[in-house]
Amino acid sequence: MPTSLESLIARAIDLGLKSSLATPKAAALLASKTQSPEAEAIIQTSNQLTADYKASLKELENAAPQQYASLRTQVVDQVRKAMKKQPGMRKWRCKVCDFIYDERIGIPRRHIPPTTSFQELPEEWECPECDVGKDHFVLDQG
Ligand SMILES: [Zn+2]
Repeated sequence: MPTSLESLIARAIDLGLKSSLATPKAAALLASKTQSPEAEAIIQTSNQLTADYKASLKELENAAPQQYASLRTQVVDQVRKAMKKQPGMRKWRCKVCDFIYDERIGIPRRHIPPTTSFQELPEEWECPECDVGKDHFVLDQG
């Protein structure tokens, strides 16, 4: 399999996973008619990820029209498998202001994409509400 095809598949799996994770939260916000910049950013990110996922599948189809049906099945299976592993996504709470960092959601309005683990945040990252460092966060059990 040519490398470019492999990277297209990897990209589709990645986008599929991210959009699958972002969609339920966005749907819940839409259903509850929550109106805030935060909610808007989450919904927008979810829509964008879904569009990117569809586009990546289209690219795959264009790159390998003969194999597309089986490649698509492969992508969907991998996304499903990856979703099962996601209970690993956690929430972290700021001890100072109770801000919750949810790894599934990230902070779209601050350009932190969904599924960014707390460990992946840069060391100099600060709480978006009260500006304290990462060492002021604890795992949120609730
Ligand atoms: Zn804080």
